[in-house]
Amino acid sequence: MITGKNYIGNTLSNKGTKTYKTFNPKSNEVNEHQFYEATEEEINQAAQLATEAFSVFSQASGEKRAEFLNAIADEILALDTKLIETYMSESGLPEGRAIGERGRTIFQLRMFAVLVKNDQWREPKLDASDYDRKPIPKPDLRKMLIPIGPVVVFGASNFPLAYSTAGGDTASALAAGCPVIVKSHPMHAGTGELVSSAIIKAAKKTGMPNGVFSNINSSGIKVGEQLVMHPQVKAVGFTGSIYGGRALYNLAATRKEPIPVFAEMGSINPVIITQKSLETRASEIATTYSKSITLGAGQFCTNPGLLLAIESDELTSFISDLGEKTIAQDPQCMLHPNIKNSFVNKGDTVTNEAETKIVAEYKNTTSANYAGAKIVTVSGDTFLSNTYLHQEVFGPFSMVVQCKNEAQLLEIISKLEGQLTGTILAEKEEYSQLGKLVQTLQNRVGRIIFNGAPTGVEVCDAMTHGGPYPASTDSRFTAVGNGSILRWVRPFSYQDFPEELLPEILKN
Ligand code: NAP
Repeated sequence: MITGKNYIGNTLSNKGTKTYKTFNPKSNEVNEHQFYEATEEEINQAAQLATEAFSVFSQASGEKRAEFLNAIADEILALDTKLIETYMSESGLPEGRAIGERGRTIFQLRMFAVLVKNDQWREPKLDASDYDRKPIPKPDLRKMLIPIGPVVVFGASNFPLAYSTAGGDTASALAAGCPVIVKSHPMHAGTGELVSSAIIKAAKKTGMPNGVFSNINSSGIKVGEQLVMHPQVKAVGFTGSIYGGRALYNLAATRKEPIPVFAEMGSINPVIITQKSLETRASEIATTYSKSITLGAGQFCTNPGLLLAIESDELTSFISDLGEKTIAQDPQCMLHPNIKNSFVNKGDTVTNEAETKIVAEYKNTTSANYAGAKIVTVSGDTFLSNTYLHQEVFGPFSMVVQCKNEAQLLEIISKLEGQLTGTILAEKEEYSQLGKLVQTLQNRVGRIIFNGAPTGVEVCDAMTHGGPYPASTDSRFTAVGNGSILRWVRPFSYQDFPEELLPEILKN
């Protein structure tokens, strides 16, 4: 049942008077439930409970935390159709996507359960002593990773399950031994409350301390700011806009004790298409990319927003083919009217910039929050001289840049802001000449996809989902896969410790 209340630890609470409702973008109507924004008192309670829970939870065995994570997965599945229906009514996303995203959420929780069942993920290191060493004796030193403390997670609008309440950030932080306070995304507060109820049930069933998880409602930035500034909060996970992520990062730096903010933000995901590829399979590439650009109404952080190639006749016909194929895709519902408006406004302002040409634009959208795709093109000179064209247009939009020559292509890549991904489409006979391109692109992105499309992020050990700023605020970490747990830990050394006081993993 959805109550509209906050979870302050295990307790449902609505002390405040400010309320809001979610919106169904498909039916273009406000949803029925009313949500209560958390008060400062409730935020303080959640932070205090998280701090108390940390002293117990951080010491719980890996087996116990794995049990908790698996129980969350089970309880989410037990929410069954209620969860799927609520997800759809708050996001406009179709049932298949809802079920797929739930599957990914469950998979992530179980993956972290496997990871932390034994303590090898803590990267234990043992340096033997040499007390006879001259001139200075060497002490016995042992090191491992320990949890950082209570973590605040800002849920993402575009992934109501996999990157929100029990999504990747929460799963990895709980796996590490950090209590989590979720700042629920206001666009899908009902989905957030249902998933929170599953987490609380799982926590109770597996004997986790009260405060290991809280879910804080809010609509507006005040609550998020209070959470980031709270002295008992020790790290932040965020997925969303550059504007929001940067604001929170800056805010955290003003604290008396600055804390890390791991923000995964915007990206235009450059795709480089070689001349040989255009000559060999332009039509196939246009088909693949028309689908990738419009997938999920373009609301993916890995959406291919920028295609780069060198001027040629083949490129000219590829551009018009891509335009036609892209606008032939059915328009899809966007997550919220605000996101649709932002897509239209940003798309228009980019298109209105001098020397930007619209290749194709879907104009017959009948429903209010459905987005028609748009493909535009510019010359390499224009793109280089106008950095306004480098911004993300979140939605089914892509820009093809026609570069003068290879030198200009490389210059453009080297001047791009940091990106989550880059893609190279090339033919086998060219591979030996791609070294410079790979190296230039590698400096700007977190992952290079070869002969594929960037949409789709595998959850696994070898995944990097992050990249140089502003793709993320810390390019040393991934937000997806096992490695994402490393955001919530710090290294700790034990010097000359008695055996019985050492953690099991560091004993002789
Ligand atoms: P957002 O505006 O960045 O908001 C994300 C979360 O952060 C929300 O809970 C929001 O709270 C909070 N927040 C934002 N600015 C804040 C600030 N200054 N101080 C404290 N809290 C703050 O992102 P969104 O709502 O998900 O979508 C808006 C736009 O972000 C999209 O149109 C798109 O351009 C971009 N976006 C990009 C990606 C990506 O993966 N690249 C993903 C999602 C969205 P409130 O909502 O309560 O104010």
